[in-house]
Amino acid sequence: MTQPNKCCGCSEAINTDSDDYGWSTTKSDYLCAVCRDMDESSSSVMMMTINGQTTKYFIGEHLRVDENGEEMSEPDWLITRQWVKSDDHRGFYDTLVDGWTTVLEGWTTGNWDDSTGQRKRKFNEWAESVHDGEIIPPVQIAIIADPTSNIFSTGISVLTPDPIGFKEWLGSELSELQNSLL
Ligand SMILES: [Zn+2]
Repeated sequence: MTQPNKCCGCSEAINTDSDDYGWSTTKSDYLCAVCRDMDESSSSVMMMTINGQTTKYFIGEHLRVDENGEEMSEPDWLITRQWVKSDDHRGFYDTLVDGWTTVLEGWTTGNWDDSTGQRKRKFNEWAESVHDGEIIPPVQIAIIADPTSNIFSTGISVLTPDPIGFKEWLGSELSELQNSLL
């Protein structure tokens, strides 16, 4: 007899022989297909740039994988993620890396041709250039895109273990990027 397993998200029983199910990386426990799919569809995207090399990770409550679905292998990063409620109906996820400082924070949206989209362009283009390796930050940075309750807007934060080096590197561009995220 197979031992009955329970989903660590909703306590639903899982039959590992016949059910579709997943695995919670954060809890090292079974996850039912419903909780797995929900976590995947609400995951945050983290672009970690080290020495000009960017790796993209998906961060959920249970999920810690890279673009290829491989589990995150860097044990030094303790990543926490929580839902911050702004009122009964609205809120956003906040994803943090332990020991790293948030140096830019705000929200962005797609590159649409209205005034908001144009204000967002500055940050979006900068983030894209970092991702593509056209801009190489001298310090490690993580650009994190967190889903919000407004499907058209994405919460953005930029984190680094070296906030002083980051600010010195960007100089006056820092406030331009911050304005772009307001
Ligand atoms: Zn479940």
